[in-house]
Amino acid sequence: MQYVTSTGEPRVCVFCDAFSADETASLVVHRGRDCYVILNLFPYNSGHLMVVPRRHIATLSATTHDERCEMMDLTRLAEQALTEAYRPQGINVGMNLGRSAGAGIVDHIHVHLVPRWSGDTNFMTVVGEVRVLPEDIGETARRLREAFERLAQEQKPDVRSQKTAG
Ligand SMILES: [Zn+2]
Repeated sequence: MQYVTSTGEPRVCVFCDAFSADETASLVVHRGRDCYVILNLFPYNSGHLMVVPRRHIATLSATTHDERCEMMDLTRLAEQALTEAYRPQGINVGMNLGRSAGAGIVDHIHVHLVPRWSGDTNFMTVVGEVRVLPEDIGETARRLREAFERLAQEQKPDVRSQKTAG
């Protein structure tokens, strides 16, 4: 996670700025109400996604109930979109809270989803920026945006029927 240099003092948070900066806006694949889903510009694997709350918060403790619910809902949707678009054999899902835990952006929490295939490079042993990616990130964004859009549309009736039933 190298969006922000660890030595500098970034005045702008890339996650807060994701919708306004050209480069990061092109990586956003789905927008929820309180959270959104964005591709990692420096992925560990093709389709490496992050689920991010819109608010600039550094811990799960600082999240609202709605934010937590939507983070998990979007993580679930991301699992489905990745499965549909890439048919991975596994997916690493997790969070790095704090610098010592490996967070590249420590002030704004995010959930990683890294699709995995047997024989790919191990998530934990990848170092530096040398990674072999079979697909251009713009193409990845296009494919995942389509998958998210379709899945989100399909699931809307479920939400409505639950609400009317209750
Ligand atoms: Zn932020």
